[in-house]
Amino acid sequence: MRSGDRKFAPGTVWLVGAGPGDPDLLTRKAERLLRRADIVFYDALVGPGVLDLIGPEAEYVSVGKRAGRHSRDQRTIDALIVDAARARKRVVRLKGGDPSIFGRANEELEACRAAGIPVSICPGVTAASAAAADLGLSLTSRGLARRLTFVTAHTSKGAVPDVDWAALADPQATLAVYMGKAAAAHISSGLIEAGLAPDTTVALMENASLPVRRSFVTRLDLLPLAAKSALGDGPAVILIGEALHGAAVARAMPAREVAHAGE
Ligand code: SAH
Repeated sequence: MRSGDRKFAPGTVWLVGAGPGDPDLLTRKAERLLRRADIVFYDALVGPGVLDLIGPEAEYVSVGKRAGRHSRDQRTIDALIVDAARARKRVVRLKGGDPSIFGRANEELEACRAAGIPVSICPGVTAASAAAADLGLSLTSRGLARRLTFVTAHTSKGAVPDVDWAALADPQATLAVYMGKAAAAHISSGLIEAGLAPDTTVALMENASLPVRRSFVTRLDLLPLAAKSALGDGPAVILIGEALHGAAVARAMPAREVAHAGE
């Protein structure tokens, strides 16, 4: 183990970012921690290629969390982590993307700290970064998108998401909406009513970084339709703003189609 993770001592916990799915997007540090762990608690969104990197002797436990599907509640997960560390195991809590972005990391950090268990974080590539890479564009753009906002529009049982649309309707910003598929209609109407142009570019990216990824570029007023018809049931991030315009342009370029056809 190198510098920061040299001290992966028994009885300690690492919250490790698994990245968006492609195991090549895992950090080297994450890979080392996975090899050394005695037990790994992983989310449903962690790619199978990443799980292959777990050491052969390690136990691995799915604590799968996917919207709308059965999952262990957060307190149970907190307790499992704490108990494993108390049993003197080297514990990895493997979380999709970056643990510090919509990953309930605080609950787990607090549970460990309250139990006196040393806990550290290994960052990961977040879904929005992976989606931008797949689309071949930048999330920020000088003079066009000076602000990048990560927002979640997760709602329980179809409730209206509690989001301050007026604060988000900035034509010079890029919005990266996580867990937003079910709330697509609210996102679209909320932002348009708050003043964002109906033809603002929107890119939807499902399964970013994976071979099965799917993307769709549309406009804000057509987002609800696109979210229903253009995606499957994988995790999807919604990117909104003029920085995404490049994705629309790239898609319209006939040269790309020719290149693909010739492959
Ligand atoms: N900590 C994660 C986010 C967890 S919230 C991160 O940093 O990426 C779960 C949401 O992340 C999903 O509903 C989806 O909006 C997004 N997401 C995760 N993996 C994704 C992927 N491979 N492609 C697109 N969106 C993804």
